[in-house]
Amino acid sequence: MTNIERHTYDVVVIGAGGAGLRAAIEARLAGKKTAIISKSLFGKAHTVMAEGGAAAAMGNVNPRDNWQVHFRDTMRGGKFLNNFRMAELHAKEAPDRIWELETYGALFDRTKDGRISQRNFGGHEYPRLAHVGDRTGLELIRTLQQKIVSLQQEDFAEHGDYEARIRVFQECTITELFVEDGAVSGAFGYYRESGDFVLFESAAIVLATGGVGKSYKVTSNSWEYTGDGHALALRTGATLINMEFLQFHPTGMVWPPSVKGILVTESVRGDGGVLRNTEGKRFMFDYVPDVFRKQYADTEEEADRWYSDPDNNRRPPELLPRDEVARAINSEVKAGRGTKAGGVLLDIASRLPAEQIRKRLPSMYHQFKELADVDITKQPMEVGPTCHYVMGGVEVDADTTAASVAGLFAAGEVSGGMHGSNRLGGNSLSDLLVFGKRAGEHAAAHADRIGRRRPSAAAVDAAVETALAPLARADAGENPYVLHHDLQEIMGVLVGIIRRDGELRESITRLAELKERVKKVGVSGGRRYNPGWHLALDLRNMIIVSECTAKAALERTESRGGHTREDFPKMDPKWRKVNLVCSLDGEDVRLEHKPLPVMRPELQGLFDQSELAKYMTDEEL
Ligand code: FAD
Repeated sequence: MTNIERHTYDVVVIGAGGAGLRAAIEARLAGKKTAIISKSLFGKAHTVMAEGGAAAAMGNVNPRDNWQVHFRDTMRGGKFLNNFRMAELHAKEAPDRIWELETYGALFDRTKDGRISQRNFGGHEYPRLAHVGDRTGLELIRTLQQKIVSLQQEDFAEHGDYEARIRVFQECTITELFVEDGAVSGAFGYYRESGDFVLFESAAIVLATGGVGKSYKVTSNSWEYTGDGHALALRTGATLINMEFLQFHPTGMVWPPSVKGILVTESVRGDGGVLRNTEGKRFMFDYVPDVFRKQYADTEEEADRWYSDPDNNRRPPELLPRDEVARAINSEVKAGRGTKAGGVLLDIASRLPAEQIRKRLPSMYHQFKELADVDITKQPMEVGPTCHYVMGGVEVDADTTAASVAGLFAAGEVSGGMHGSNRLGGNSLSDLLVFGKRAGEHAAAHADRIGRRRPSAAAVDAAVETALAPLARADAGENPYVLHHDLQEIMGVLVGIIRRDGELRESITRLAELKERVKKVGVSGGRRYNPGWHLALDLRNMIIVSECTAKAALERTESRGGHTREDFPKMDPKWRKVNLVCSLDGEDVRLEHKPLPVMRPELQGLFDQSELAKYMTDEEL
């Protein structure tokens, strides 16, 4: 019989990025015995890599900012496909979540009069991103971890045990969730180092597992982001929405090849950086779409004046939402005006004094110096689109973050709806604080109602068998690294930034073949630190999530946000009313059309009727 370490918790949080930590803090504050599980080392998550900042309408730099403007910007950025209630809660609650971080010990950069400083970012009408240089995520994670330690110290004082009510299980990957009688009963996984199995019995599980970028080769995402939470949710019977919408961040490094995809923060453009093609042209002026024409400058002079006088000038087009900038770069490179390595030039050197560049963008300075031998205070950076963020995710109730399966909650990047078809920069860090808190609160309330649950022995045996299968096949099976390479090839080439009917159909056929091959994946060696085995188990998740993306991308015959169809280049108001919902039918992904919730009239009233007319059908208006 296989040995399994067993634990019982009121609330189990899977993921130790910002969403997971904030959820765990809230569950623990509600008095619940809470586990935090992290595939990576504690403290290593995408949240820690976030550079630019967290968007919150505090109005510290421009007093005209408020939640209504933030709500408007978020809906515009998402091309009105957002779950309006999530966008509303996010805009209203983000400032409180940032101020609360200060009470946990966060030290944001300050304005001259001592308030939290806020910087410009694409799609945000006013300077709105609270930041710490270009290392904001590090401060956010540091502070949340510090809060957890302080709660553990309280528990020690009360119970003589630091881990009495909140415990971290790091380098522990969850591979299975259990659902019995329609409700969650626990989670199963393994420790990466020892390969030992572990079982968590619980009636309330919060998914906070982040993104899916590792299905693509050129990505800003690191190794953990294999869509585990998305796939776990699907396998429990929950649904995913908006999976066709992937954000290709416009500025990833393109050279040298070994670092291709690593993020170049949008703060470079927020702080004055401009994009040029190899002919020296500042090309973004040619790519302002009609829906944004009123808000963006049409001359370089006006765009440059905006940095010092934003009230009387319109914004530079380099600060359009990310989907617009990524498509523009893609077009320039395709038209032969890109660099040899397939990028364009991002110039901050001629726009700010060297000292300010080093002060405001220290990580970027070091990143380019060390990885590309480029001094960004003297030379332009070579940049191009990189797969960065998934807008799609677990379909949740806006207020409670509850998924459709009882006891399952989701927050942060793994959840869907908040960002519609395209996320604005800075809106993720605030999203995960706002909805992380809500997830912890509602998971705790659920645990109060249901008490504890325990998965059946048969379900646990099945999870063990699935986990061991690749090792049983050993060298006789398919090589996981080859399969991963093939998956990245399919997704990058056929389901990339620009999509076409024929290629999407081909991707679905090839993903189906790959799915069969993944079932035969084999790994030699044992369970003790065996990265091939880990990848073999991750592949099952990546393949199913990729199938959702490909099928939804084929179904949506329009272009919107992070989904561009060459054969349907326009936004279609009929599609604005539709969420594509993915669920599992046996092993296959099934798609359904579901109407989007209708925005309340007082929220619609925040927009000009003429603006809404660009997005909505006559019937909706
Ligand atoms: P993450 O922080 O990604 O954490 C996920 C956690 O889940 C990790 O602990 C991981 O180990 C764990 N996990 C995953 N699978 C499993 C499993 N199977 N079992 C157990 N644990 C698991 N957004 C902004 O708003 N502003 C920015 O300036 C910004 N800059 C960014 C810069 C970079 C380089 C990147 C990559 C992203 C950036 N983003 C930014 C996006 C933002 O950082 C992420 O969307 C956000 O941090 C996601 O937070 P999260 O809590 O949902 O998940």
